[in-house]
This record gives sequence, structure tokens and C-alpha cells, in this order.
Amino acid sequence: MERINVTKSSMPTYEEYCEEIKSLWETRWLSNRGDKHKKFERDLQKYLGVENLALFANGHVALEVAIDAFDLKGEVITTPYTHCSTTHSIVRNGLTPVFCDINEDDYTIDVNKIEELITDKTCAIVATHVYGYVCDVYKLNEIAKKHGLKVIYDAAHAFGVKINGVGIGNFGDASMFSCHATKVFHTIEGGITTFNDVNVCDKVNQLINFGFVNHETVAYVSTNARMNEYEAVMGICNLRHIDDEIAKRKAVAQRYVDRLSNVKGIKLIKEQEGVTQNYSYYPVFFDGYKKNRNQIQEELEKENIFARKYFYPLTNELDCYKEKYGFSVKNTPIAKKTADNVLTLPMYADLSLEDVDRICDIILR
Ligand SMILES: *Cc1c(COP(=O)(O)O)cnc(C)c1O
Repeated sequence: MERINVTKSSMPTYEEYCEEIKSLWETRWLSNRGDKHKKFERDLQKYLGVENLALFANGHVALEVAIDAFDLKGEVITTPYTHCSTTHSIVRNGLTPVFCDINEDDYTIDVNKIEELITDKTCAIVATHVYGYVCDVYKLNEIAKKHGLKVIYDAAHAFGVKINGVGIGNFGDASMFSCHATKVFHTIEGGITTFNDVNVCDKVNQLINFGFVNHETVAYVSTNARMNEYEAVMGICNLRHIDDEIAKRKAVAQRYVDRLSNVKGIKLIKEQEGVTQNYSYYPVFFDGYKKNRNQIQEELEKENIFARKYFYPLTNELDCYKEKYGFSVKNTPIAKKTADNVLTLPMYADLSLEDVDRICDIILR
């Protein structure tokens, strides 16, 4: 049997990509806001329904630089149920993460537990739209306003997601989308940040390029996080097909629902009302099922099917944070239980419904 991974990158046809990169041989402009970069920015503004955005070499550096742009100091309330990138980007900015537990409906940050964690050092909330399921953005906005905090979203999973028709990049002060090859939309490697304040976006576009304001003025101590023209071209091409890709993913998700809902001990996430989902991942949670998460993962592997544990371990139990930082999972019991029970099943546009059935048969037997 052919190997089935948790995901498979979407690609335009070879011809489509080659046609689009031809002009790079004429212009020899391969990086630093070339024509493809500029076109991709315009295409994205339209697709994501946002005014202010910046393109990056990858999602992680996009988040790190976005946080840097706000000149924050002190404590940041955040979730441990996320990619280590979210926590790293807080710590690498010299900020202290304060972990808040998650809710059991969609596994995003529990907005009812945030306020008790706020101190006079708190400066921001960094929350993740987990698997493309959105945080309670309205409540987060309310809390942030009341306490004078910035809200920055790790929207790495949420490309194309909308709430009541409004692009997810419009909520909070900033959002980061990862365009890594394994994500629902990709540019090989790449990242996008969106901002509600044009001035912050302008600053970020300078931070991306060592802090250069013009050829002779470097205003910030920064990094190189530029996206190159080949990546922008991959984005331009993939964006033409993204709606078809998401529609195909939706059919896969529906099949999983048909086969796995109403099975005792298996929990699926319900679709959120008013939210246009992107079906970026397909997580299932084993709680009181006849087999545990690790056993199911092993049985799938025996049949050459590779499901993954997103997110496990929690970021507040990573080795790199153990000694020096002293984070503890004690304050985030729901996140701990979720990380121990979750398995993310294969999900991609070209996954056949026969293969979905085969995966479900193994889980159910
Ligand atoms: C993938 C991912 C990132 C990092 O994005 P890269 O483009 O791989 O750097 C950050 N946060 C979350 C939640 C992710 O899934």
C-alpha cells in the first residue's frame, strides 16, 4: 500500500509554475519586493479581505517580527496547546509567557480564564486559531480593550477562514499565517502577517529587511525575513486553486464525520457557527475509547498510514523550557488531557474517500 502521510502539499501544474517564473530570467530580480512579491501581496489583500499585510520567509519569523513590532515588555497570556513556534516567538522577544488553559469545545484559549491571569505586567494576548477553528475573537477584543492589551493571533492554521464573511486577519492587532508546504495554503516556505494599523505594517516591512528605512538608514536592530520571488510565484499559483482545494478537503472532512461521529469514546470538533472553515486538519480525540491514542497511531502505521499528534507535547512541557523557565502543565489541565488524547488524521485535497474509509476501518475495528 502507498504511504499516506498526515498531509500532502498542493501544487499547481508544472507548466503553470514555469510560465509564471519565466519573467524572472528577464528581470533577474529574485528578492527584495520584486514584481511577483508585489502581485502576490495584491492577490492576498483581495483573498484575505485585508488592507495591511507583509510577506515573510516563513511563518515563525513572521510571528516573531510581528510581536517585535509592538515594542512590548512584560507578560503575555498565551496557550500551551499550539506549535512551539508560538511560545518561542514570545520568549525570543524577551517576554514572559503566562499559560492559560483551553476550552473543550474547540481547544482554543479559554476566554473565561484569561482575566484572572492579568497582572500589571501583562502587555498582550497571543492566541492560536487551533486547526483553523477560531478563538472567541469578540470576547478577546473586549478583554484587551478593558485592560489595554494587544491581541496577536497565531493564525498559521487559519488561511482563508472567515467569521460571518469577514476575513480572520481582520481581528486583533495582528495575525500570522504560515505558508509552509504542509499548510492548507503554501508558498513552499513562507509567512504572512496582517495588521489593523498601517503604521505597524510599514514598520514590519522595514523589520523584515534588517531594519532598513532607506539605503542609508537602518532604524531598527532586526533580521532578514524576506520572501523570495520563487516563493511568491508558488503563492500566486496556489491561490488560483485554493477554493477548489478547500472544497475537496471539505468532502474528506464530511466522510470522517459520517464514519466517526456517534462512536462512543471518539470526539470530533463541531463546526463553528458563522465560520467559513478551511478544513486544514482533521483531529480526533480518544477519551474512553476501547483503544488509546498511541495504540491507534501504531495500528495505522502498520498499514503505512501516518497520523500525527498535533499538539503534543504541550509547549509548557517542552524540554527546552524545563530547567530555565519552570513552566508547569498543572495550571492547564484541559490542554494536558487534550494533548494526551489527540490524533490528527490524514487530511489533504487529494486524499481519496476510499482511503478515508480505510483509515476509519482501522480505527473502528
Ligand atoms: C506551522 C506553524 C507555525 C510555524 O510556521 P512555519 O511557516 O513552519 O515557520 C506556527 N504556529 C503554528 C500553530 C503552526 O502550525
